[in-house]
Formats: sequence, C-alpha cells, structure tokens
Amino acid sequence: MNLYPQARPRHLIIVLGDQLDNDSAGFDGFDSEQDAVWMAEVAEESTHVWSHKARIAVFLSAMRHFRDALRQRSVTVHYRQLDEPGNHGAFVGELTATVKRLSPQKLIVVEPGEWRVRESLQTTALALGVDLELRPDRHFLSTREEFAAHAKGRKQLRMEFFYREMRRKHEVLMDGDQPVGGAWNFDADNRDSFGKSGPGDVPQPSRFRPDKVTSEVLALVANQFAKHPGSLAHFDWPVTPAQAQTALHDFIEHRLPNFGKYEDAMWSSSDGLFAQPYLFHSRLSAAMNLKLLDPREVIAAAEAAYRKGRAPLASVEGFIRQILGWREFVRGIYWHFMPGYRGLNVLNAGEPLPDFYWTGKTEMNCLREAIGQTLEFGYAHHIQRLMVTGLFSLLLGVKPQAVHEWYLAMYVDAVEWVELPNTLGMSQHGDGGLMASKPYVASGKYIERMSNYCVGCRYDPAKSTGDDACPFTTLYWDFLLRHEKFLAKNQRMAMQLKNLARLDAPKRRAIQQQATQCRAVCRHSTAAV
Ligand SMILES: Cc1cc2nc3c(=O)[nH]c(=O)nc-3n(C[C@H](O)[C@H](O)[C@H](O)COP(=O)(O)OP(=O)(O)OC[C@H]3O[C@@H](n4cnc5c(N)ncnc54)[C@H](O)[C@@H]3O)c2cc1C
Ligand code: SF4
Repeated sequence: MNLYPQARPRHLIIVLGDQLDNDSAGFDGFDSEQDAVWMAEVAEESTHVWSHKARIAVFLSAMRHFRDALRQRSVTVHYRQLDEPGNHGAFVGELTATVKRLSPQKLIVVEPGEWRVRESLQTTALALGVDLELRPDRHFLSTREEFAAHAKGRKQLRMEFFYREMRRKHEVLMDGDQPVGGAWNFDADNRDSFGKSGPGDVPQPSRFRPDKVTSEVLALVANQFAKHPGSLAHFDWPVTPAQAQTALHDFIEHRLPNFGKYEDAMWSSSDGLFAQPYLFHSRLSAAMNLKLLDPREVIAAAEAAYRKGRAPLASVEGFIRQILGWREFVRGIYWHFMPGYRGLNVLNAGEPLPDFYWTGKTEMNCLREAIGQTLEFGYAHHIQRLMVTGLFSLLLGVKPQAVHEWYLAMYVDAVEWVELPNTLGMSQHGDGGLMASKPYVASGKYIERMSNYCVGCRYDPAKSTGDDACPFTTLYWDFLLRHEKFLAKNQRMAMQLKNLARLDAPKRRAIQQQATQCRAVCRHSTAAV
C-alpha cells in the first residue's frame, strides 16, 4: 500500500468509466507502494449527450464498486465523486487539478474507446507537460492493427469475412480448419417470430437488487439529473464482475438455447407494462462494454454449452457471431475511419429527430413500445433498435448525427466505438455502405411479421396512402423513390427496386404527398432537448 497517498506517485494510472478491468494493461507492473490510480466522475460525460438516468447510474455504480474493490486490495485510488464540492464537472479540469496536486512522474492509460476522450487526454497531458503512456486494450480479441491488415487492399469490408478469420484464428467453433457443423452460418434455422401465441413464459434474467453503493448512486442521479430522460425504477443491472458472471451463466443455462430462433422477434407484453423486455437476449452488453466481463469467457461459455449438448449449434453460432463477429468488426470500423466517420451523411439526410423519441408519445404502436421500453429500462434489443427506432429515422430522413446522439444517450450499453458504427453505418447508411452491404429498409409489413405491435395499432401496415396508412410503409416507398438512383448501384437492392417499378405514377405521387405530410408532422413535434 502507498503509505503516503498525497506523495508524488511514480505512475498515476487513469481508469476510465468503461475500463473497469483489474487485468488491463494499465495495471502491468503496478507497484502499490509507488503507484496510484485516478478515477473521476464528471457531469460532462452525462450531458454531452442528454443521457438516460439508468445509463449514468450504471457507469457511476460500476466505477464506485471498482474503486472499493481496489481499495480493499490496498491500492491507493484518487477518486473524485460527482457530488464532491468543487468537482470541475469536466474531465480535463479534474485531471489538470490532480496532476498539479500530485505531480506524478507519468500518466498511464489503456487506449480509450472513444476518439474524443483520447484526443482530450493527449492534449491535456501535453499542456501539463507530463508524460502520457497509452497502453493497448487487451479486452478485445482483435487489435486495431489486425483490423487494418484485414482491411488493406479490400474494396469492401464485410463482417462475414472478418468473422471467419476470427473463428479460424481463435479456434472458435472449429473442427480442424472447418467450421463445426459444416457451415459458417445457420441463419436459415434462426430468426423466427413468436407467432400468434407469443413467447410464453421466458425465463427471467438474473436481476441485481441495488446494494448500498448503487442505492446512493440512484439517489444522486435522481437528484442531480432529474431532467434527464428515462426511469430508475427497474434498475437491476450487473455492476460488479461477480454479478456479470452470474448474469452470464444464467443466460447460458436458461436463454441461450432459444436465442438464435427468436433473436429477431419482438413482442409487447399484454400482462403488464413491458414485462418481458429481454426475451431470449443476454443483456450482457453493458457488462462487457464496461469491461466487467471478458468476451473470451462469454464465447467459451457459449461454445461449451454446445459441446455439452445443452444448446443447439444454430443458437450458439448466432450468439457467438454477435460478439466475435459484429462486436469486434464495429470496433475495427470505428478506429479505421475515425475521426471523419462521425460526420458522414452520404444520403444527405437533414430532418431533425422527432420529439417523441424522447417521450415515447406517438400513435405508432411499434415506436411507442420500443421507445417506451427504452425509457423504462435503458434497453431495447438489436432488432428493436435497427428495425423500429432506427428504421423510422432512416426512412424519415433524419440527420444521422442527431440519431447518433440519441442512441449514445439512451442505452445502458452505449459507448461510442460500438454505438456510432451501428447507428450511423448499419442503421442510417450514413457511411454509404462501409459497414453494411445495403440500407436496412423495410415497410411496416416487416414489423407486422416479426412482432405483435401492429395488432391494435391505429395504422395498417399494408397501406401506404390514406388516413390509416402506416407511416413506415408510406416512408419506405418514399425512401426508395427519393434514393432510387443511388440504390440502383447496389445489386442487393434489385428486388426492392423491382417492386418499386410496379407503382404507377399516381400512386407514386400520392405516396410522396403523404410522406411530405408525415415529415411535416414529425418536424412539428421536434423540440430542442
Ligand atoms: C442503432 C443501433 C445502436 C446500437 N448501439 C449499441 C451500443 O451503444 N452498445 C452496444 O453494446 N451495442 C449496440 N448495438 C448493438 C446491439 O443492439 C446491442 O449490443 C444489443 O442489443 C445488446 O443487448 P444484449 O446484450 O441483450 O445483446 P444480445 O442480443 O444478447 O447479443 C449478445 C452480445 O453481442 C454483442 N452484439 C450484438 N449485436 C451487436 C452489434 N450489432 N454490434 C456490436 N455488438 C453486438 C453485444 O455485446 C451483445 O451483448 C446497437 C445496435 C443498433 C442497431
Ligand atoms: S402499423 Fe405501422 S406504425 Fe403501427 S405498429 Fe405496425 S408498423 Fe408500427
């Protein structure tokens, strides 16, 4: 233990809110007699996008638990709480004050996950004249250099090829050099809807009742961020490595077997408000993104379940693809194309984000459900994000940067390296196809097929014009009309454009008129947040 915590430390290890990993490179060579850790809660991280209360609480609670665990191991932690008098409210101000006070010989930090934070750390260290050592982030299975090597010379980057390389390299679900089961992908067996009878009784995920530390954080957030969106009423997220382990094993045991089959299905609960938001999903993203949980362990646990005959291959492969494939791939995209990536807007979309994204107050049932659930829990599963909230803003033509800020604010798992490529690339096609091979566009009929949202909605998903026309369906055809030239360059859009060609001129005009009205109504509902 550092007996003189106010004395000049040799190394001051900066631990950011999403770097809560004892085994990170930041602790390599750590000597508790000479070195110390620095962590700070700053309001800026919750206000630079107008964050959901549960998102703020997950970070603060997990950080405080991490601090306490370090102190129990006799590590000196210089920790700044948000509610301490004189808190500067900004990362730069806090770090500057600490460096001036302690005058460490060197600052050490694991590569931040966000461009903005890395830039700000480097500039601050330079201004203070103190050495800053950036260490690699070992949490991920691929490095940024490996991704750059994968990208080199390729005209197009596609997750599928990257994923196969990762499977081979890390020997995941492989029989020698062949994929287990003779195929890389079992999508044909996955992605059912629940049918009319619904999901039935889905095993509920492990829930973590707030302990003293979390309860203090919840009170602080409720008080200090009262005007922020979202509820804290159901807060039960894992905030320690032990809780994350429990959540992982609970998922593997109870929900993984059905994960693949129902990964795209959506359902609104009839027996209570949003009673089953998680369905067969793992809800492990926040724990992994905060680094409470190692993705290798998650992948190994899923593979072991298959090898022991406890979960079907299609489900296990579908789940592992999300982590070893998508999660690593989007991080690669982020670092490969930042900082320019954030500003891309290839479709020239310029509409503001409708106000109902912050309130859930809309007559469109699907959006009311997906946004309502997001406000209640800080969670929506992938298809709710991609094919309900994301789809509507894409079809409406909302500026991708406004959509990005909403997603970064609203989810407990939101951190920029994963959120931005998913939003701007996969969901809004703002990058013109760097991330995904085509825009994910569909009419209300897709939502009708994959959920029960349309039952009882005032709109009809089959109609594109008229009083009860579904806005998704109207805007879907309007999107194809507006971007026909651009989309014609993409082979994968051929079928959708062929269907568009069947619409006669009067129908096209009627659709465009209705889309213009819809846009005007949505614009009118926009309020500055
Ligand atoms: C517009 C949009 C924004 C998103 N923003 C985020 C975000 O801020 N943070 C985040 O972690 N995920 C984000 N995702 C991806 C995905 O929706 C979430 O990871 C997932 O819903 C988290 O819930 P879960 O843990 O129950 O996931 P599961 O469905 O159980 O999937 C298992 C794990 O796979 C990983 N995963 C799944 N899909 C993706 C993906 N597309 N990209 C990267 N990892 C993936 C996650 O780590 C997840 O925990 C976004 C997707 C979209 C379409
Ligand atoms: S009819 Fe259209 S707006 Fe209503 S729930 Fe279905 S897709 Fe959504």
